[in-house]
Amino acid sequence: MIAALSEKTEAIYQQVIARNPGETEFHQAVKEVLESLSPVLVKYPEFAEQKIIERICEPERQIIFRVPWQDDHGEVQINRGFRVQFNSAIGPYKGGLRFHPSVYLGIIKFLGFEQLFKNALTGMPIGGGKGGSDFDPKGKSDNEVMRFCQSFMTELYRHLGEYVDVPAGDIGVGGREIGYLFGQYKRITNKYESGVLTGKGIGWGGSLVRKEATGYGTTYFVREMLKARKDTLEGKTCVVSGSGNVAIYTIEQLMKQGARVIACSDSHGVVRHDEGIDLDLVKQLKEVERRRIADYVKHHKDAHYVAGGNIWDIPCQVAMPSATQNEINGKDAATLVKNGCIAVGEGANMPTVPEGVRVFLDAGIAYGPGKAANAGGVATSALEMQQNASRDSWTHEYTEHKLDEIMTRIHALTYETAAEFGAPGNYVVGANIAGFIMVAKPMVALGLV
Ligand code: NDP
Repeated sequence: MIAALSEKTEAIYQQVIARNPGETEFHQAVKEVLESLSPVLVKYPEFAEQKIIERICEPERQIIFRVPWQDDHGEVQINRGFRVQFNSAIGPYKGGLRFHPSVYLGIIKFLGFEQLFKNALTGMPIGGGKGGSDFDPKGKSDNEVMRFCQSFMTELYRHLGEYVDVPAGDIGVGGREIGYLFGQYKRITNKYESGVLTGKGIGWGGSLVRKEATGYGTTYFVREMLKARKDTLEGKTCVVSGSGNVAIYTIEQLMKQGARVIACSDSHGVVRHDEGIDLDLVKQLKEVERRRIADYVKHHKDAHYVAGGNIWDIPCQVAMPSATQNEINGKDAATLVKNGCIAVGEGANMPTVPEGVRVFLDAGIAYGPGKAANAGGVATSALEMQQNASRDSWTHEYTEHKLDEIMTRIHALTYETAAEFGAPGNYVVGANIAGFIMVAKPMVALGLV
């Protein structure tokens, strides 16, 4: 079900490896897109003539900077900051910031590369970018996080702007971090430029439903995939990895759709609760108290916690990977299929290794790749930008309705594109081709820039 690289795309891939040594996640993301593109080059020979693929694989700009800050003991700490401005053919760079010790250039580039296609799929005028730092907010005091964010923005601000580059959150960057970043941007520039960051709080430029958007949107995408197969989420048993922003609101929307979520996790272990996960408790532990998911079982004696456990061993009908990249390997994918999984919706970015994707596609299950399935977050960020530009704020109902419409449209677009290019039901092909064409055509129109 996955095409091999053609001679042309293989040559481009080898060039990407040679030009970006050691950036394995970036190589993986590029290869996955290139595998879909051969038929596009046949249909649109101008893309090859204009070297659109080669140009898309090279970010427009990559910024790496020092972030010095002082911890609560007065000791100087040094982290590294990144912003990769990948592609601005259809709008200002847009994409989140990730604060996690694993961050290096290869992670930011894979995320930025995925982002540019995802943003195109939303149909909104936003280009692709991504950034972050190897700073770990875990275990830091609020004051330490604030000092770090202020130092980070003191360099980053000169590269941002509502018509230039608009960051948001990602792993390790939530409402608290966006607040400190926005405060410092405002202070340095002396401008209340709401549209420069998204994921802001309600009352200072944020949009209702932004917090819920990625999880809700991914669930809507799965709902649409099942609808295309004349099925629903009602009564389905689900597992959701992670217990951060995306996981929490995926669980919430799955419950609203009548599904039963029996497990979630964090980087230390897995909680299984066959009665159904107590979402209020997860929110309290993770959003309010910033504690480990292990503490869940202190409140529910009939729940089980396995330190270092593998959530994909738990039988389920719907799997929603919502933690991080490459969290489902080939063996996990095979276990899920063997245990009766019929749908996978990727809230996380690139959570399934290529071998796992192959397993899902070969088994013919409904597989929604992150590029399409989790686009609701950035789409609602674009709605936040719309509200900021018009100095307006929309109701919860209206914003949620817009999000639902966008996800339903992305599903239809990727479904139809897959069928048009000879791979019916293959959303990987549908998302890669539809996203690529939506960026490639404007790139041709804008000339060699
Ligand atoms: P959060 O920081 O809110 O939560 C991340 C969750 O994943 C936590 O439970 C964390 O556990 C777990 N996790 C992180 N890294 C690892 C790891 N290396 N191994 C195991 N578990 C891990 O991040 P988000 O919920 O915002 O992001 C989750 C995923 O969704 C990411 O892939 C992100 O790129 C993607 N995404 C996010 C969007 C958004 O709007 N926020 C939009 C689209 C995609 P612990 O607390 O123990 O670290």
